[in-house]
Order: sequence, then structure tokens, then C-alpha cells
Amino acid sequence: MDLPDRDSTRTVPTARSLPAQAPDGVPGTGPGSQAPRDRFDRPLHDLRISVTDRCNFRCVYCMPKEIFGKDFAFLPKELVLTFEEISRLATIFVGLGVEKLRITGGEPLVRRDLPQLIEMLADLRRPDGTPVDLTLTTNGAALRALAGPLRDAGLQRVTVSLDSLDEATFQSMNGVDFPVSRVLDGIAAARDAGLAPIKVNTVVKRGLNEGSVLPLARWARNEGLILRFIEYMDVGHSNGWRLDDVIPAAEIVSLIDAEIALAELPPNYAGEVASRWRYRDGSGEVGVITSVTSPFCGACSRARLSADGNLYTCLFAVKGHDLKSLIRGGANDEALEQAIRAVWSVRTDRYSELRSAATTDLPKVEMFAMGG
Ligand code: SAM
Repeated sequence: MDLPDRDSTRTVPTARSLPAQAPDGVPGTGPGSQAPRDRFDRPLHDLRISVTDRCNFRCVYCMPKEIFGKDFAFLPKELVLTFEEISRLATIFVGLGVEKLRITGGEPLVRRDLPQLIEMLADLRRPDGTPVDLTLTTNGAALRALAGPLRDAGLQRVTVSLDSLDEATFQSMNGVDFPVSRVLDGIAAARDAGLAPIKVNTVVKRGLNEGSVLPLARWARNEGLILRFIEYMDVGHSNGWRLDDVIPAAEIVSLIDAEIALAELPPNYAGEVASRWRYRDGSGEVGVITSVTSPFCGACSRARLSADGNLYTCLFAVKGHDLKSLIRGGANDEALEQAIRAVWSVRTDRYSELRSAATTDLPKVEMFAMGG
């Protein structure tokens, strides 16, 4: 194996890291400047749009069922952005330099009439006239019914979350005894509909599904799917996260490499979140997302728009910026653009680089509420 220059226990990042202090001044916000840059000179390239805070799964690492039971108060409909509001904001974000839109949640496929929104977003063009990269992250439960309509509406590709191929393990992780066969069928439906490439996300939590790593790697390689293992993160504060529960990405890579030889690949583009590895026999690739052991804040160009219209500039943010009130208060597009520009220009987030015992207890927003 070509081992990366990475130490699985290191939390101080190198190549993709930031200076300890934000430089003075606000780069990229002078008159005539089109694309805003934050205090660390990071551009705004990706927008994750949460279309609902609701989910039909209760994954142990995200929405544990003991906390998010039947009585949990999700957002009432009137507080959730309409498709017109989402599309209007997305248009402004694209004008500011966003190249990629990812629809998420909660579980995005539980939002009624989602293909209508996809149709609106698929029409968006970047300032140079090219289409935006439009994708969606789902647990796959409703893909059999929706893959075709989503593809017809203009969705290009899809990422499906799947934590195990083993029925008992998968059901204990999704919290609602959802059968793995239905997710696999959803993936087949996505393929039949022509969504490509199909990526699969697997969160690995110690004691739960490390035994699923190799079976998933073998399966995805066989099926021609792009698999990404994600280190279990301290998002929100309901999952009882402990560092000991994190399986470092380097351990995952070693495990796979011991059976199927791997070689590291260069990033596809600056700011790519996954570290990618190819199978040396040419049969595909696998990736790891090292948010905990080797954070990548230095290249983070991602903003999040929550279902209730808050703009977040970090997955670990404590507070959002309320765009819904601006829209519903009658702000015109220029005012909305200025508001987004103002938020991004002063951004200094780099939570994962600063992660410590102290930060873990901060009152962070839950991932399903912000948009995962
Ligand atoms: N419901 C959709 C899904 O299952 O993909 C979209 C939302 S979900 C919050 C987005 C992704 O975040 C999923 O791949 C999920 O596994 C991942 N995720 C949630 N909680 C996580 C955690 N504590 N650590 C790492 N990844 C997590």
C-alpha cells in the first residue's frame, strides 16, 4: 500500500489547514468583486440545501430514537422554505460562485413533490453559462419510487447512505428496522434510471459496523459504486459522541488494503472532501472522509441552507443566519445577495481543526436540522 502522509491519531492538520488566526481585513469583498471569499480566503463553491428536517430513519449517530421519538416537534410546514424560496436563494448563491448544489435533509425524499424542486434547480446556469452540478443525498428508502421522476426532472447523480450489508447490523443502526434489501433495491432503481455515478456513504462507528467495512468494499467494487467511509463525527449533541468510537480512516484503509491492494489518488478538484484510493488491479476506487483524524477546514468552501432558511457556514455551527425572515420580509435579490456576501466574507469557521474536549460540548445544531 502507498501509505498517505497521514497519522491516524493526529488532529493537527497540515496541507489543507489554516493559519491559527484569521488575517486582518476582508478579502474578496471590494467593489466589483463577484465571488466572495472568507477571512481565510476560501471561496463559496458548494451549497447543501436541506428540504426537510424530518427523516424516516433514526440512525444511532444522527437522530437516536430515544431522543427523537413520536412526540418530537419537527418544523411546522409554514416555517419550511417553499420550493420558490429555495430556488430563488439557490439562484443567488450560484450567481455568487456556487458550482455544486446538494439536496439533503433530514431525508430529502420525504419532502412531497421533490422532483418539482429538482426541475427548478436543474435549469440554473452559472455565470459562465454552464449547468450547476446537482446531486442529492438519501437513505435510499424511497428511491425505487422516486429515482425515475428525479432523473426525469434533471437530477444527475445520487449518493446513498448505507452502513452495512448485514441485516441485523443495518437495522440496529437505522433505528427503525428498515431492511437492507430495500436500500439495495433503491440503488438498483437509481442505476436503472440512469443516475450516475452512484456513491455510497458509510459512517463507521466502533463496536457497531467495523465488521461491515470489508463486505461493503467488496460489494461496491463488484457493483461499480463509489464507496466513501466517513469517520463518525461529533455533530449535534444527541448522539453521545466519544473519540473512542471513531474508527480512524487510516485503519479503514489498512483493513481494505490488506485484502485488496490500494494506491492513493490525487484529489479530483481543490477542496475535495474525500481522500481517494484506487484498487491497484484497476477495479475502481474507495474513499475515506477524515473529518476527525485529519480535518480539511482549509479547503472548505461549503455553506448550508437549512429547511427553515438559516444559512450555516460550518457543519458544527452554533448559530445560523436567518435568510427566511429577509425573504418573507420583502428583501429584493440584491439585498439577499448582500446578506449572503456579508455572512461569507467574515467567516472564520474551522471547527474540526479546533476540536477538543471543550468544543465537543458546545451547543451545536443537530445535523438533520441544519442539513447533513
Ligand atoms: N437522510 C439522508 C441520508 O441518509 O443520506 C441525508 C441526510 S444525512 C444527515 C447525510 C449524511 O450524514 C449521511 O450519509 C449520514 O450517514 C451522515 N451522518 C449523519 N450523522 C453523522 C455523524 N455523526 N458522523 C458522520 N456522518 C454522519
